[in-house]
Amino acid sequence: MRKFAIATLALLIVVGLLFWWNRKPTRQPLHATFHHACPELAGFICTDNPLEQIYPNQNACRLIHQIPEELRNLPYAIYPTDWDYDTLRFDFNKRFNKFPHAILAPRTNEELIQTVKLLRKHQVDFSIRGGGHSYETASLSPGYTIDLKEFDTIKLNIEQEEVYVGAGCRLGTVLEALGKVDYTIPTGTCQSVGTMGLALGGGIGLLLRQFGLTCDSIKKIALLTADCQIIEVDETHHPDLFWALRGAGNGSYGVVIGMTFKMYHVPHVTYFRMEWDWDSQIIPHIFEIWEDWCQNLPTSITPQLRMWHLNGKPHIAIIGLHIGAEEEQNWEAKFKQLAPRVSMHKGRFIDMAKYWTGVTSSPFCKAKSKILTQPLSAELIQKITHLFQNFDKGHYMYFEFGAFGGNLSRTDTAFYPRNALGWWYLASYWNDQENDSVALNTLREFYEDISDLTSPHSYANTVDYDLGANYLNAYYGNHVDRLIQIKNQYDPENVFHWQQSIPLSR
Ligand SMILES: Cc1cc2nc3c(=O)[nH]c(=O)nc-3n(C[C@H](O)[C@H](O)[C@H](O)COP(=O)(O)OP(=O)(O)OC[C@H]3O[C@@H](n4cnc5c(N)ncnc54)[C@H](O)[C@@H]3O)c2cc1C
Repeated sequence: MRKFAIATLALLIVVGLLFWWNRKPTRQPLHATFHHACPELAGFICTDNPLEQIYPNQNACRLIHQIPEELRNLPYAIYPTDWDYDTLRFDFNKRFNKFPHAILAPRTNEELIQTVKLLRKHQVDFSIRGGGHSYETASLSPGYTIDLKEFDTIKLNIEQEEVYVGAGCRLGTVLEALGKVDYTIPTGTCQSVGTMGLALGGGIGLLLRQFGLTCDSIKKIALLTADCQIIEVDETHHPDLFWALRGAGNGSYGVVIGMTFKMYHVPHVTYFRMEWDWDSQIIPHIFEIWEDWCQNLPTSITPQLRMWHLNGKPHIAIIGLHIGAEEEQNWEAKFKQLAPRVSMHKGRFIDMAKYWTGVTSSPFCKAKSKILTQPLSAELIQKITHLFQNFDKGHYMYFEFGAFGGNLSRTDTAFYPRNALGWWYLASYWNDQENDSVALNTLREFYEDISDLTSPHSYANTVDYDLGANYLNAYYGNHVDRLIQIKNQYDPENVFHWQQSIPLSR
């Protein structure tokens, strides 16, 4: 009996200790406690949780030590010793393991101004983060991250058919809010992507041929400039900057606080899908018909040809979105000779969105793109087919061809390839960091192999550091000089920069 009582007491003590160790510390004023693990930081707490002194990261004390005094005690900052730091320091793509000194998440315009003033004053490196879906480290500086997640306002004005979207809103939230009144804006197909990040680089999705890119619907932008002024940018105020921000605006000209978009009344749509069993003999014919078909499509349809590798097998399908009259819907006629499995879903736009939203649970990814300026050659189609046919397992690979045309060419912005035939997007996702080199090499070797068969241009939102010094020409073509001139006008000290931002000179 005595033994049992002692054992129970011991168990209670262990459970109690575990509970105490694992409780989540609330954010406290940083001058509150002396911390044993970093005595040199007296007056600056790390945390009183013994587990967190060694985990989440051992860099915490070193990092905190390097933070200038004025940046140490901001109520809207997440420091390396905060319990949520280890979640927030990562982007969507977990390939990059960065340890910023702090993640600054201002809640108001005043706090945002203060943030940029302090970062400038102390001349520290920083990045701007919206939805954190950059394929590389565009929004992950090793210095400081300005995280705009608190700017989450969405304001609809149905009379004016416009919507104000705060810099922290992701596509899914925006589409959901607009869907309640059967409105939408043209967006990308992944709902967790940040709306500003998408729109600043263009914004390609399934309403592209109908309404253009996401950036084509921007009416007004609220921007915090390098000299810490908040300005309104539109067709009549700072028109050059307005042009640059729509296609080349990611992290180069200022911090976008929010955007006002024209919204479209789209109550009903048809989502269609044609699918084939993989057969390498049929692939060239699908591409042949696809290319001819895209040249003559009505503007009411935006299609994509998709290839992916799943469960050890390659797959191919053409999907698309159609808005408009029933009689335009004999879209599949040209493909009939290839006997696809056809399915069609009609319904409210917001309900259809779930059919094209791809969400992956794989933490690591890399993507590359190409702008298509001429039809794919037989040799290129053969190489693409070969890539999927001989695919090495260990990562999930996804290829998407999107047709341009329709209303894409009616607007002039920094998005360069308005008159191209289309684009492709090749991405690899994987679960195990040990597969990094397999996945990265597959993409890189393929690109190397096809470089002579394709255009040198890529889509700016598919950020790809492999482009090296060629990135300006690849993303912006003959817009580069104008973009540099606008950069010099609005950010002459290059306050806003990252590896592939618009520089002050070539
Ligand atoms: C899974 C996935 C699916 C995607 N699908 C599509 C798609 O369907 N169509 C498409 O066109 N693209 C797509 N993309 C690409 C996507 O549009 C870009 O990666 C985009 O830049 C992400 O924006 P973000 O705000 O989420 O990312 P972040 O990493 O936060 O930011 C990306 C860049 O934009 C800058 N930025 C973000 N917010 C601001 C701001 N408020 N002010 C100034 N600069 C800012 C950042 O500094 C950084 O340079 C996809 C990406 C992923 C990972």
